[in-house]
Amino acid sequence: MDAVVARTILSLTGPGIVLIFSLAFAVFWLIERRLHYLPVLALSCLLFALGSLSQILHWPPEAGPNALVSGALYTIAVLLNVQGMLLRAEKPFNWWLCLIVFAIIMALLWYFFYIDRNLTARVYVQNFGYGLIMLSATVPLAKRPAPRPVDCVLFWVLLLFALQFFPRTLLTAGDWIAPDAAAFANSLFWQAMLFSVGLLAAVLALTLLFAAFSDVLHDLRRERDYDALTGVLNRRGFGDRIDAELPIIDNPVSLVLCDIDHFKSINDLYGHDQGDAVLRELGEVLRRNARKRDIIGRLGGEEFAILMPDTDGEAALQFAERLRIAVEGHHYGLPATANGVTASFGLATREPSESWNDLFKSADTRLYVAKRGGRNRVVHQDNAIQ
Ligand code: GH3
Ligand code: MG
Ligand code: MG
Repeated sequence: MDAVVARTILSLTGPGIVLIFSLAFAVFWLIERRLHYLPVLALSCLLFALGSLSQILHWPPEAGPNALVSGALYTIAVLLNVQGMLLRAEKPFNWWLCLIVFAIIMALLWYFFYIDRNLTARVYVQNFGYGLIMLSATVPLAKRPAPRPVDCVLFWVLLLFALQFFPRTLLTAGDWIAPDAAAFANSLFWQAMLFSVGLLAAVLALTLLFAAFSDVLHDLRRERDYDALTGVLNRRGFGDRIDAELPIIDNPVSLVLCDIDHFKSINDLYGHDQGDAVLRELGEVLRRNARKRDIIGRLGGEEFAILMPDTDGEAALQFAERLRIAVEGHHYGLPATANGVTASFGLATREPSESWNDLFKSADTRLYVAKRGGRNRVVHQDNAIQ
């Protein structure tokens, strides 16, 4: 086989792999449409592969149009890749910034071919341009609230990818760039670029695929463990958290059970949707009033539980009383003629060696006493006189 043909076939491996990633992102998106950043990443890979193909297969054949076509494809691919990652981090797609950056890079490529022909300058424009685009994305990604391990890996891979553009270009461009296309393909710059960009692009694409899998898993676990109406843990999620955390929490631990008063009559008078709205609002009131480390769950219907680590009976009583007042004072969007929404509370603090069942039973009994005692109250001891 002719050496040139062999080298061309070999050099098609890179774009071939990128095309496979493009297909993987696209198929993944067809299966999981909620991950709206996947088609952006699929398109980014497709354009990147087309950019490589236009260079390898010399299409268009003339050097000027080829530089502009491949430059345009690479630039859009890099911009889309970065926007895809930002979309995943719930940042909006910035069309204007993309257009402006694209226009600047294309204008410079055009200038350094048709006005002041300079291959080195074009190499710098593209490499430094792409490095800067990627670097700019690391800032919002670093500020992402509550990052998961996969987000951290993604951040570091992107940072590494962005940074390699600078020293690699500085070390290999300049004198090394040969004037004609064949020599350019053999230059140290081109070989180093193929290696570092190829390797890091594959690592980045694999990390992004892994991140997409992890996003699906994360969503599924959320749906399994959280109550869609109120946003707090559901019975299963609450139980799992208790099983995992109660044995390792030091005493004192307090449990507050909360049940809306006469909730059935809210449903009966104003409809099930209004009842749902009250539940949603109550979830919000609980989340707003609890501390970050408290575990809140909807145990069923209109009954909620708040497990409070490192909280003695006195502090838990103050909290429950504050909560009772907050529930009573909240506006639930019911008609002005409606009676106010109130809730009853049963509170228990774990004695040493007490099990979860014992703790729950104590709080539940006290909740029952609160109901019998007239509702809209907190009961925190067994011999409470109501
Ligand atoms: P009490 O003061 O004794 O707690 O009386 P209550 O009416 O609040 O309690 P009861 O157990 O008699 O009624 C609870 C009602 O909650 C009955 C059920 O239809 C309603 N419910 C349970 N889950 C939901 C829900 O997800 N949405 C709505 N809108 N209602 C629900
Ligand atoms: Mg009730
Ligand atoms: Mg109830």
